[in-house]
Amino acid sequence: MISMYKKYVKILKDHAIIITSPRLDILKFLDEHHTHPDVEEIYTSLKKKHPSLSRTTVYNSLEILKKNKIIQSLTISGSELRYDIKEGLHHHFLCKHCGRIFDISITCPNMNRTVAGGHHVEEVQGYFKGICKKCQTKEKERRNNG
Ligand SMILES: [Zn+2]
Ligand SMILES: [Zn+2]
Repeated sequence: MISMYKKYVKILKDHAIIITSPRLDILKFLDEHHTHPDVEEIYTSLKKKHPSLSRTTVYNSLEILKKNKIIQSLTISGSELRYDIKEGLHHHFLCKHCGRIFDISITCPNMNRTVAGGHHVEEVQGYFKGICKKCQTKEKERRNNG
């Protein structure tokens, strides 16, 4: 196995998940693209390398990775799932204008209360929506010029 996949081979091994080339590529893609892609985007990217790959295989692989808590899915933008490799608990901000999803690292004030109740928190989903900084700047420029 090529060394660039070493990290991902280990992740799959640690979770006793059967190692397949598409699974490794899904992990690599999510690790390199923190843009919260949907199935379609991941599928389109992997298709170049795996021409016989089906959407169903990509979707099923994502489900396996999710079940093992290696990745998480978001429904912030509507009905389609967006995927994210887990890098600790974080919240998300969706720009209603450009559709980009940003990671927001904030400590949830309700966290301590939840943990104090004896619960073990595995997931915190905070969805914020609005207009991102870039889009606000663009809008301002547009107004100033027009
Ligand atoms: Zn934006
Ligand atoms: Zn995220």
